[in-house]
Amino acid sequence: MPGSFRIGSLFGIEIRLHISWLVIFALVFFTLWQGEYRTSYPFWSQEKRLLVSVITALLFFGSIIAHELSHSLVARHFDMKVSSITLFLLGGVANLRQEPPTAKAEFFMASAGPAMSLLIGLIGLAISNFIDLAQTPSLQVVVAVAAYLGYINLALAAFNMIPGFPLDGGRVLRSAIWAVRHDRSKATPIAARGGQLVAGLFVLWGVVQFQEGGNALWFWPFLLAYFLYNAATQSLNQERVGTLAAGMRVGPLMNTAFTAADPRSTVANVVRDLMLPRHLRAVPVVNGHDFLGLVTTDDVRKIDHERWADTPVDQVMLPAAGLVKLAPEDDLMQALERFTDSAVLPVVRDGRLVGLLDREAVANYIRMRDLYTQSQGAR
Ligand SMILES: [Zn+2]
Repeated sequence: MPGSFRIGSLFGIEIRLHISWLVIFALVFFTLWQGEYRTSYPFWSQEKRLLVSVITALLFFGSIIAHELSHSLVARHFDMKVSSITLFLLGGVANLRQEPPTAKAEFFMASAGPAMSLLIGLIGLAISNFIDLAQTPSLQVVVAVAAYLGYINLALAAFNMIPGFPLDGGRVLRSAIWAVRHDRSKATPIAARGGQLVAGLFVLWGVVQFQEGGNALWFWPFLLAYFLYNAATQSLNQERVGTLAAGMRVGPLMNTAFTAADPRSTVANVVRDLMLPRHLRAVPVVNGHDFLGLVTTDDVRKIDHERWADTPVDQVMLPAAGLVKLAPEDDLMQALERFTDSAVLPVVRDGRLVGLLDREAVANYIRMRDLYTQSQGAR
């Protein structure tokens, strides 16, 4: 996610913070400082209330990380790669490299987060209820913090279990349909429609809140609805592309009419002769029969344009050894899941470059084929 930065790592999983998360942090802090703690503990000093509010907001932050970490560790247990966890405006998201392999894996992975929130919630409420303040008045701060964290984590668990995909509850729903129908591609559309429906309900909720007035956070449900609707629609499209690509291979869809650059050509010449006239985002670098690497517009932009005229292209390219390489007979659907940061992947046979696979070109082809099939059906 652009605009996010690394704050550390736990169990080998990178924890990242998106700047929009600071809004949440400020919001939680402010509602405690000027609301919750002010009304419940009016006898606290200014400094004490400020300090306890900051500590509570930090612990809230910790409980969101615990929620996401539970998803990630269960995902890893099922052999899925988790690159990082990013906290942003609407909570957290664990960045998975691929879809869960089985319904069972998805069920446990999706339930793990809400289960962790539920656990923290129950512990918080237990602490706040079992401490007798009449006997130990010194523990008043502990009771206040535990009660707040208890309630907010229970609310978090409940919210995430709303069955709108890709919320956790929607994923649990998908895994259940998947288990019954034995086919993920049949389960995703149902769960994603659920996500769109829940987004619609958020809008209604927002309208009701807005009419009642007096709520400074009236826009919140609309924001949630917007993100949920987009995410659900995106999953729907992805699954559709996946279904349409089933059984297809990389070979027929790769571009074989590519022009490669010589490793000694300068960056300026490659841009002038290949990238500009042919609108290319990536140019392969080849020496005789050997595929050496790929130079992309991003690599070129990273170096100062004053050095373009005397920098050989093999100094800026991504070397072949570090690239994901496809084979012509690879399954297209699996190939699509291997695109991570790059838009173009090399297709190699016996160390020789035989084609380039462009993700967008493939998606376009599949969409056009889908539309054509529908147009034939409509006649
Ligand atoms: Zn979750």
